[in-house]
Amino acid sequence: MKQDILKKAKEINEKFNVFITIADKVETSGKGKLSGIAISVKDNICTKGMQSTAGSRILEGYIPPFDATVVEKCRKEGAFIIGKTTEDEFGFGTFSINTGFDVPKNPLDPERSCGGSSGGAAGLTVAVDFPHIAIGESTGGSISCPAAFCGVVGLTPTYGRVSRWGLIDYGNSLDKIGSISKTVKDTALLLSVISGPDEYDSTVLQLKQEDFTKHLKDSVKGIKIGIPKEYFGEGVDEKITKLVWQAIKKLESLGANYKEVSLPHTKYALSSYYIIAMAEASTNLAKLCGMRYGLHKPIKGNYDEYFSEVRSQGFTEEAKRRIILGTFTRMAGFREAYYLKALKVRTKVIQDFKKAFKNYDVLIAPTMPVVAPRFDEIAKLEPIQHYTMDILTVGPNLAGIPMISVPCGLVDELPVGLHIMGDHLQEGKIIQVAHTFEVNK
Ligand code: GLN
Repeated sequence: MKQDILKKAKEINEKFNVFITIADKVETSGKGKLSGIAISVKDNICTKGMQSTAGSRILEGYIPPFDATVVEKCRKEGAFIIGKTTEDEFGFGTFSINTGFDVPKNPLDPERSCGGSSGGAAGLTVAVDFPHIAIGESTGGSISCPAAFCGVVGLTPTYGRVSRWGLIDYGNSLDKIGSISKTVKDTALLLSVISGPDEYDSTVLQLKQEDFTKHLKDSVKGIKIGIPKEYFGEGVDEKITKLVWQAIKKLESLGANYKEVSLPHTKYALSSYYIIAMAEASTNLAKLCGMRYGLHKPIKGNYDEYFSEVRSQGFTEEAKRRIILGTFTRMAGFREAYYLKALKVRTKVIQDFKKAFKNYDVLIAPTMPVVAPRFDEIAKLEPIQHYTMDILTVGPNLAGIPMISVPCGLVDELPVGLHIMGDHLQEGKIIQVAHTFEVNK
C-alpha cells in the first residue's frame, strides 16, 4: 500500500515536477492522529536523512542530520514523509519559477503556474488520490497563493503558533509554517499536530497544544464579517470579485452579517513587505558562502573571489537581486529612509487590522487578484509585476495574523480562492467559517 503511494508520487512528479526529492521508503515512528496519511514537506523544512535544499542549487546535496520540529511531530503521530516539494528558491517568488530545480506545473492546466512559493505542495495536493497533507511555509503569501491557484485549502497560522525550528529561514520576522490540503478538516487536523510550544524556538508562543478540529462546526450564525474595501480595488479581476461577493452572500444566507471596512495603509503594505523581507533574506543568505554552508567548489582565487564565484553559481537571478536590494535598504546612510521606515509602516498595517478586529470576527477578500497565469504570460512580466501579484496577501502576512484560502468557484475554468483572515490566535474562527462555507457551497 505505502510502496504504491511512492509509485504514484513518482508518476505525478514525472508529469508536474512537484517534488525535488521523493522518499526511498516510507517509515513512521508512531501511531496516532495522522496514521495512514502521507505528508509532503516543503523543501525549506529540514527532514532527517532526506535532502533539503530550500529550492536552491547552493544547498544541493545537503542532508540534514535532524528533523524540523513540525516533521518530528507528524512522524510521532503516525504520518510518513513522502518527499520534499518544489518551491521558489528560499521562498523568493509567486510562481515557483525561481527554483533552482524543475519548475512545477499546475495539474489543472500544465501550461500554467501552481503559484508560489509553496507551488509543489499545492500542485501535489490537487493531483493526489491518496490521503495526503502538505506542509508549506509562508512569508508573504506562499501558502495562500498556490492554494488559490490550484483550488485547494491553505492555512497560514498566526506568527509564532508553530515552531520554526528546522526551517531554512527567508525572513525571520515573517516566516510561518502551515498547511495545504484538500479539505478544511485536514488542515485543522494538521494544525492540531504541528502547533504548540518548542524549547528549540524562542519565538514560538507558549500556548498549550489545542485541538482545532473542534472548530469544524457547520454554523456562521452571528459571525461578523468585515469586507476590506481596499482589497477589491484596481487590478483585481472583476470576475474574481464577483465570485467572492457570491461567497459573502452565501455566508450571509447562512446567518453571518457583513459590513465594509477600511484598512487605510494597505497601499503601503507591498513596499514595506518587500523591503523588510529582502533585508532579512540578505542577512540570512550570508552564511551560504561555500565555507561552512553551501556549495563547495575547487575555485582558485582569494576569499572574495571564491565567495563571489560560489554565490554566482549557486543562486538564481532572483536571489541575487534580493541580496543586492536587501543589503542596500539596510546600509548605513539608507537604513532610515528604507528599512526603518518600512518597519514603521508595518506597525501601521498591524494597527489597521487590530482596529478592524475590534468590530469583526473575520475579514474576507479575494486571495489573489488573478487566476493561475500561463508560463508565457509570466515570462513577459517585469520583477516588479511579480511582486505586485502579492498585493492581497502581504498585508495579513506583515501583521502575522492567521489566514485561510478556500476555493470558491471557477473563473475561465480555473479556481479562485476566498481569503478568510482572523485576529491573532483566532485560527478557530477562520476554520469555522471556512468549513461552513466548504460544506454549504
Ligand atoms: N511572493 C512573496 C515573495 O516573493 C512571498 C513568498 C513567500 O511567502 N515565501 O517574497
